[in-house]
Amino acid sequence: MQFNYIANKSLPSRSGQTIDVIDPSDGHAYDNIQRSDASDIDHAVRAARQAFGSSWSKLGAGERGRLLMRLSLKISEHAQELSAIEQRDCGKPTKQARADASALARYFEFYAGACDKLHGQTLPYLDGYSVLTWREPHGVTGHIIPWNYPMQIFGRSVGGALAAGNVCVVKPAEDACLSLIRVAQLATEAGFPPGVINIVTGYGHEVGDALARHAGIDHISFTGSPTVGTLIQQVAAERHCPVTLELGGKSPQIVFADADLDAAVPAIINAIVQNAGQTCSAGSRLLVEQSVYEPLLYLLGQAFEKLRVGPAALDLDVGPLIRQSQKQRVQRFLDEASAAGISTVAQGKVVGEAPATGFYQVPTLLRDVPVTHRVAQEEVFGPVLCAMAFQDEDQAVELANATQFGLVAGVWTADGARQFRIAKRLRSGQVFINNYGAGGGVELPFGGVKSSGHGREKGFEALYGFTTLKTIAIKHG
Ligand code: NAD
Repeated sequence: MQFNYIANKSLPSRSGQTIDVIDPSDGHAYDNIQRSDASDIDHAVRAARQAFGSSWSKLGAGERGRLLMRLSLKISEHAQELSAIEQRDCGKPTKQARADASALARYFEFYAGACDKLHGQTLPYLDGYSVLTWREPHGVTGHIIPWNYPMQIFGRSVGGALAAGNVCVVKPAEDACLSLIRVAQLATEAGFPPGVINIVTGYGHEVGDALARHAGIDHISFTGSPTVGTLIQQVAAERHCPVTLELGGKSPQIVFADADLDAAVPAIINAIVQNAGQTCSAGSRLLVEQSVYEPLLYLLGQAFEKLRVGPAALDLDVGPLIRQSQKQRVQRFLDEASAAGISTVAQGKVVGEAPATGFYQVPTLLRDVPVTHRVAQEEVFGPVLCAMAFQDEDQAVELANATQFGLVAGVWTADGARQFRIAKRLRSGQVFINNYGAGGGVELPFGGVKSSGHGREKGFEALYGFTTLKTIAIKHG
C-alpha cells in the first residue's frame, strides 16, 4: 500500500479509498495508491503554505542549493531502487528506467547550482532615483505530472520551482505515482523541512481538478494532454493564477538528400520507439526529400523489422504501453490508417516471452501518409512513424508547420545555410540539427508554441517562470 506524502509524513487519503497499481508488462495489479480528494489537497496546500511562511523562506539561496544537491546525491545513491520502481510501474525497459533516474539526479544537481545565481537587476531611470528588481518565488506551486516520464518531469518541474524558492504540491498521474512518493521520502532524509515537497495521489478529474482550483495555489505547472491543459488554464484563469503548460507534440524529422543517412537512421528510430513512443517530443512524422525517400524507407524498414517488443525487465527495444486503453487508442489510429489505404512499410515483433495480458504494441512505419490524415495530425502516443515525401525546402517547411503542435523538430542536412534558414522558419520550441533530443538536455529550455503549450521548463530559463518580478523605485534626490 502506498500513501500520500504530506509534511514529511506518509498518510492515507481522508476517504480511505485506493486505486490499483497495474504492471503494464503483465496487466496485473501488484500494489495500490491513495484515491485522494479535495480535502487531501487542502491539507497539502496548508502544509506547503506553512513551510513557505517559515522554514523554507528563511533559508538563504546557498543553503537551499545545498539541500537540492543533497537530494541529488540521495537520488543517485538510490538510483537502482528508483529505476526498478519506475520500470515496473510504467513498463520501462531497464535502460530507459535507469536513464530517467539519472536525469532526475541531474535536474536536482543543475538546479542546486542555480539557486544562488538567480537575481534581479538595477535599472537606469530618472535623475535622483535608483531602481532595482527582485525575483521572488510565487509561493505554493502546484505540479500536475503525466505518466510517461514521472521522474524526469518531477525533476524539471519541482527542481526548478524549489530552486526559485517555491514550495510544491505534486499530483502524479494515477498510472505512475510510486517513484515520486519515494523521491519525496528521500527529500526528507536529505533534510527538506516538512511541507516543502508534498505528494497527493488520485484521479485527475478529482484531485488534479481540486489542485488546479485551490485558492492557495499560486502557480500551476501542468504537463499532459492539450485537452486537460485547456481545462487547467480555464480553471486557473478564474483566479488569475499563472500557468505553465507543457502539452503534446507531433514533431517532424526533416531529412534532406544531402543528409548523413547512417547517422539519421538510428536517431529517427530512437525518437519514435523510445519509451514505446509515449514521449511528448517523439519524432512521429518523417518528412523526406523525394530523391532519398525510397532509400531511406528501405533502411528504416529493415531496422523496424528488427525491433523487439516485450516485458520491461527483458530490456528490449520497446516495452509495453502504459495501459490497455492506450494500446486500444494506438490500434485505432492504425486501423483508421489502414482503412484509408495508408500502407505499412514494416513493423517490429512482440517476443514469445511477453504475457498475453501485457499492453504490447509493435512499432509501425507508415508511408505516403496524407498530411491531413488524423494519424499525421494527432498525437498517437505510441510507436507509430508517419513518412511523407517533399519536393523542396518550402514544401518541407509547410508540411513541418502543418499541425496544431510545435514542440520539437529535427533537421538533417549538411548544408549550413539551410540549417539556419529552416530553423528560423519552423514554428517549434526546440530545433535539433543533425541530432535529435540531445541526450535529454536538462540545461536546454523546453516547451512549445501553438497547442504544444506555453512557458518554458528545463535550463535556467525555467526559473523566470517560477518567479515573479518586483520593481522597486527609490527617490533619494
Ligand atoms: P493527461 O492530460 O490525461 O494527464 C496528465 C495529468 O493530468 C495526470 O496527472 C492526470 O491525472 C491529470 N488530469 C487529468 N484530468 C485532469 C483534470 N480534469 N484536472 C486536473 N488534472 C487532470 O495526459 P496523460 O495521458 O497523463 O499524458 C499524456 C499526454 O501528456 C500526451 O498528450 C503527451 O504529449 C503529454 N505530455 C507532454 C509533455 C511535455 O512536456 N510537453 C511531457 C509528457 C507528456
